[in-house]
Amino acid sequence: MNHFSTQYQQQRAWVNINHQALVDNVQALKSFLNPHTQLMAVIKADAYGHGAVKVAQTILQSGVDSLAIATLPEGIELREAGILAPIMILGAINSIEQIKDIVKYNLEPTLCTPHQAFIFGETLAQLNATLSVHLKLDTGMSRLGTHWHNGIDFVNYIQQFPQLHISSIYSHLATADDVDTTVMKLQHSRFEEVISALKATGVDIPRLHLANSAGTLCDRTLHYDMVRVGLALYGIYPAPHLHDTIKLQPALEVKARITQIKTLSPGTGVSYGHTFKCDQATKIAVVGIGYADGIPRLLSNKMKVIIRGKFADQIGNITMDQLMLNITDFPDLEVEETVTLLGKEGDLEITADDWANSIGTISWEILCSFKHRLPRVVIENS
Ligand SMILES: *Cc1c(COP(=O)(O)O)cnc(C)c1O
Repeated sequence: MNHFSTQYQQQRAWVNINHQALVDNVQALKSFLNPHTQLMAVIKADAYGHGAVKVAQTILQSGVDSLAIATLPEGIELREAGILAPIMILGAINSIEQIKDIVKYNLEPTLCTPHQAFIFGETLAQLNATLSVHLKLDTGMSRLGTHWHNGIDFVNYIQQFPQLHISSIYSHLATADDVDTTVMKLQHSRFEEVISALKATGVDIPRLHLANSAGTLCDRTLHYDMVRVGLALYGIYPAPHLHDTIKLQPALEVKARITQIKTLSPGTGVSYGHTFKCDQATKIAVVGIGYADGIPRLLSNKMKVIIRGKFADQIGNITMDQLMLNITDFPDLEVEETVTLLGKEGDLEITADDWANSIGTISWEILCSFKHRLPRVVIENS
């Protein structure tokens, strides 16, 4: 599969990953951060579809301090590719088998409950090993972590295990992309409350972190010792009202080629279900990309593409491997020409936000949707 996808990289449909954009986004983020704040790059889910190993190599050279992934296999993939930077696991690991691999691959787990800390402590004692760990408090996301009310007890409990070195204490924001900052401020004050109570007990305070992309861009008081940035690194703003903070460039483009061109007579239906009917003689192009590549089928009859610097409408239901375009206004297009589905051509641009807004989802999900059937092509300079 890999061999063929390399050989035929730009022949049917593919994703361009602009590594210069990644470098520029890292620089823009770093100059925005408080001077002592470290930048942790969140590269879970294959770096939001951008290719985790290659993204890690590029951004570590550009000054990213550490990496975060969601699952153990994602961490192992990076270590096996020779990545040496600190790697934090955001997800919760509860099995002894996985703890052994965390030690073996020198990864840094998140501890969310006393029970989990106990399993880690016991397993590490048996292995005669130690581990840097990150403690997670739930200040209002209601996902992973110990409830902030029990934060002090949680930290004290973990300090009983000499095998566990507390590298950081963190929490995650639920509404940082919202214009209304009420909940975010409440989470911030709960986090502060735990930390100041800890300080009062004389505990050594490890590194603290709270902000995702939205938190990082909207409020510098959330930066603490480190920020955990995913979406913004890939050049997408977490919310429209955060556009005027720093300049970001999307790193991912989706391209495909025209595989057939034909003209249909008035009244002819297009694709499964005939959800598009030609009201006049219509020239169409078939493009070799479909929902099995990650183009959301819900975009059928709602999306545009860019060809030769002009928008063209997609028509009919998107199929598994192909979709159709109305190219009546493009008289001399030819088979094999490249179409931009996501990305920029001249003054025109189609973004992950455009797609997300059309179908009622978020840009994070759009970026993660592209399948491995689409080769990722590294572009060094735009
Ligand atoms: C995914 C994730 C992030 C990154 O979020 P973005 O909105 O993409 O910046 C940060 N922290 C945690 C705990 C996450 O799960």
